[in-house]
Amino acid sequence: MRKNRFIPFGYMLEKGDLKIKENEGEWVKIIFNQYIKGFSYNEIATIMNNSNIVYSDEASIWNKNTVKRILDNEIYMGEGVYPGIISSDQYIQVKKIKEGKSPGAIQDSLPYLDSIREKTICYECGNKYMRLHDRRRSEKWYCKTNGCKSEIIPTDALIISAVIAITNAVIESPSLLEISDSESYHPNLDIIKLANEINHELDKKNFNYKQVKEIMLSCASKRYEQCKEITPKEVSRNLMMDFHNKTPIDEFDPNLFVDTVSRLLVEKTGRIHMQFINGATISYKQEIRKEQ
Ligand SMILES: [Zn+2]
Repeated sequence: MRKNRFIPFGYMLEKGDLKIKENEGEWVKIIFNQYIKGFSYNEIATIMNNSNIVYSDEASIWNKNTVKRILDNEIYMGEGVYPGIISSDQYIQVKKIKEGKSPGAIQDSLPYLDSIREKTICYECGNKYMRLHDRRRSEKWYCKTNGCKSEIIPTDALIISAVIAITNAVIESPSLLEISDSESYHPNLDIIKLANEINHELDKKNFNYKQVKEIMLSCASKRYEQCKEITPKEVSRNLMMDFHNKTPIDEFDPNLFVDTVSRLLVEKTGRIHMQFINGATISYKQEIRKEQ
């Protein structure tokens, strides 16, 4: 029999017909699946070599080019004389990942992460947390500010498990979301500055009445502005009712999160603080803690 050197990996000639070579066909599927899962060309080549799969008589060893050649080849969807080994969906998925249009399965499987990402902030500096997703490795969350280096690397799993744990704690005891009156008013930095300025002026022997009055007015209007933003007690009550009517979750619930949570703060120790829309904050690191 003639050597099958021109026949692509995965196929064989039998009585003049092209057929799927059973063992190789399975490996073609594995190559596509591994790539979709986030493995690189090189990693797949290593898997193939470690499994003692021969690429061809001429080149028995796999490398990134041979893997790429398989992933590029449209015949595996079933074209012309070639029977299909993979689906066209798989081929298109691989194509998108190669073109960088899709970051790969790890992120694809977690589209709801965006809702968390938008609200995740560094506890140390207040900057937005970033999520780095390396196709070949697992993802990591980090703050790009110098000196905010995390003691542990927050992963999707860490963040999501904290969110689920806190959510369930609140479902079990909605009263965790109760806020005291003292919690409901925190003057912001501008107000504190103005108040200090007023006191400073008033301490002077001959203070300028007109000037102080202006500062006082400006301070009062800032306070008023802030008061309008403060969540009233009703919000807390409604929030507690919402959670009261829920059953514990085993999966992240993006709608619940978007509706009830204002911020998620990640401490560099890995402790996660979840701030609800009424201002109540619950933190989690192995155990649930209400923050005062
Ligand atoms: Zn930071």
